[in-house]
Amino acid sequence: MAEENDLSIFERIIAGDIPSEKIHEDELAIVIQDINPQAPTHVLLIPKLKIPRLVDADVSHQALLGHLLLLAGKVARQLGCADAFRLVINNGADAGQTVFHLHLHILAGGRFSEGGLVN
Ligand code: 5GP
Repeated sequence: MAEENDLSIFERIIAGDIPSEKIHEDELAIVIQDINPQAPTHVLLIPKLKIPRLVDADVSHQALLGHLLLLAGKVARQLGCADAFRLVINNGADAGQTVFHLHLHILAGGRFSEGGLVN
């Protein structure tokens, strides 16, 4: 895992040091296309404030977490998938988290089983 003081890849994207396909930006978050999409629609909602994992969030982040959920709905509408999308947060390496800067995945464009996308 990266050192606590290292910039996360998402901080470098937010700073503009690494290019990304950005579809939304506001004062609290950005939304970008995932570089390695796992579904026809796969975007990442990333808070500008780095919280490594969801379990690292506390009550001081409550408004930010609410903002991210409302933004997910707004972006899903914007992308035309408001009626069928999955919102995923991987928390911890064993759960598949690879970037330790909290982010939400919006996945859509296929049919979902309980475990994941089936087509
Ligand atoms: P995690 O596995 O941590 O939940 O999700 C990290 C996500 O970030 C992955 O889906 C991965 O494809 C995406 N990702 C990693 N590096 C980059 C990058 O440089 N640019 C973009 N757009 N997505 C990235």
